[in-house]
Order: sequence, then C-alpha cells, then structure tokens
Amino acid sequence: MKIPFSCCSTTGTSRNLVEFLITKINPLGLVSASPKLSAPIRKKINVKIESVYEVVSEIEAMTGISFPTYYVDPVLMVSISSDSSGEIGILYARTIPAEVNGKISILIQLSAPLVLYASKSILRLVMAHEFLHYLELVNQFSTGKLLSEISPTSFFEETYEDAKRAIDPAKVFPRKKKLTKDLGREFQAGFSNEKLNEKCRKSWIEKGLPTAKIRMGANQIKISMNALAKSSFDPEAVKLLSTLDSSK
Ligand SMILES: [Zn+2]
Repeated sequence: MKIPFSCCSTTGTSRNLVEFLITKINPLGLVSASPKLSAPIRKKINVKIESVYEVVSEIEAMTGISFPTYYVDPVLMVSISSDSSGEIGILYARTIPAEVNGKISILIQLSAPLVLYASKSILRLVMAHEFLHYLELVNQFSTGKLLSEISPTSFFEETYEDAKRAIDPAKVFPRKKKLTKDLGREFQAGFSNEKLNEKCRKSWIEKGLPTAKIRMGANQIKISMNALAKSSFDPEAVKLLSTLDSSK
C-alpha cells in the first residue's frame, strides 16, 4: 500500500533507523550531527528552536492533543515537478508516515531554514498545518479509511491534493478564528511565502548549505498492512477525530 506524503512531503524511507533514533530523542539530533552546518548556524538554530517549543505548547493547549514527534532536518528539500514545466518549490515542513520496528510512526519534519528564517506567526501556521496532516493520517490509519491515491505529478495537483489531506482547521481549532482563517488562506494553493522564499534562496541555497532535490512523483512511502495492524495511535487524537466524524 502506498501512502502519499503531504505538501510538505517524502523520503522517509531514505532516513535510516539510526537517524530516526537520534531524532526521536532530540529534535536537534540531526542538526547537531550535521558536519555541513557551521557552528554559528547550529548555534542560531539552538536559539530559534525556542519558538518551535512555544508553538508546540500553544497547539497542544488549543487542542488538548500531544504534538507528534518532530525534528529539525539540516537538509532543505527542494521539489521539482515531474512534468516538463520544471517548476520548483521549497518544502519547509513535511508530515511523514514511516515504518519503524514494524510499526507506523508519524513524524513531522521541520527544515532548518524554516526554523531559522520564519517569523513566529509563519512558524505557527506551518506547524498547525502539519498538525492537521498528522491528524488526517491518524484518521486514515486508525479507521482503515485509507486513500489509495496516486502521487500528483505537478504542483497544481499537489497543492490541490494537499488541502484534501489535512483535517479542516475549523474543526480542530474551533475557537481560533484568526488562525483558522489564516490556515485556509495561506495553504489554499500550497504554502509559499515570498519573503521566506527569498531569505532561503539568499541565505541557504546560494550559500551552498545542504539542499536535496526530490521529485513530486516520488512522494510516496510503502506501509505494510502488517505494520498497520500492529500500530496504535494517540488515544486523545483518535477521540477528537471520532467526535469530528460523528458531527459530519
Ligand atoms: Zn500540506
């Protein structure tokens, strides 16, 4: 069974188990271990991670649900559409289902440039959006309502599909009108913030800091039915999802 990643997606399988274990213990595990980041950049990420912790606490307080395992990836993913248009996009964050020790884990990956350059409000939006993808995956995995989708090949399709793979923000953050509105607006056509893109281009990509290209068509991971059967998900998340389901 192939599961497409969200926006915001891929290559969970290329990360090996050792890397996964580092990140499970410490969100900055991969950043600390990266030989390609200079000491000043690592230091700056260490300072900026405080905003990530604050946003995680805010989202947990708003929803009563624990934020899933997350980590900072020192490599910025740049995606290229697999049709002939050659469009490229920056993937600031991704929600990745991965099979670890025969069970499914859902991880949220934040790119180092997002942590370094995003304003607090943009960081909050991106992390809230990934949280909605996480809930959608929990919903699909826990109810068996798995979408057997094929991976989109162009950005138009990708961004269009992306919204369908996230739970409606108004249902998860019912008392947060502004956040809900901003999430709807910013992610309607896929997330892209010109100011942040520019900062990433100048301060990260053009400085030769770690970047990896991925093809949109490769945004899938294989999950076995066996792993699915052995997996369990956060009961609080499952409880919230069941109330949303019955209120439809
Ligand atoms: Zn998304």
